[in-house]
Amino acid sequence: MDPDRYEMLVTLTEVVMQLDLTLQETERLRHCLTETLASHAGDADEQLLKKLLEKVVEAESRSTRQSCCPVCQQSFTREAVGRTGVYCSASCKQKAYRQRRDAWRRQVGPRAST
Ligand SMILES: [Zn+2]
Repeated sequence: MDPDRYEMLVTLTEVVMQLDLTLQETERLRHCLTETLASHAGDADEQLLKKLLEKVVEAESRSTRQSCCPVCQQSFTREAVGRTGVYCSASCKQKAYRQRRDAWRRQVGPRAST
């Protein structure tokens, strides 16, 4: 990666950690990191970029109460769906439950159903 660009990304990430950026600014930064990450998939910069992106996402969720649904990968506002806030919707919560249940069944085997 271009060292200047990397330097810029690190600086931006540090700024995000220290300041309250608006949702729009944080989203822009995340978008920029995501794009950069895509062009570095598999190379030496990938892990570093992933770490930066994680920090941005973390800062974003802290400052906006935005969360990323582990089922459909959509971001959502926690307040909109109640206190648990792990999943974006009841259907994703249900889907996650079914996935856990199915995984458990595969692990334990058919004996569990008797
Ligand atoms: Zn979801």
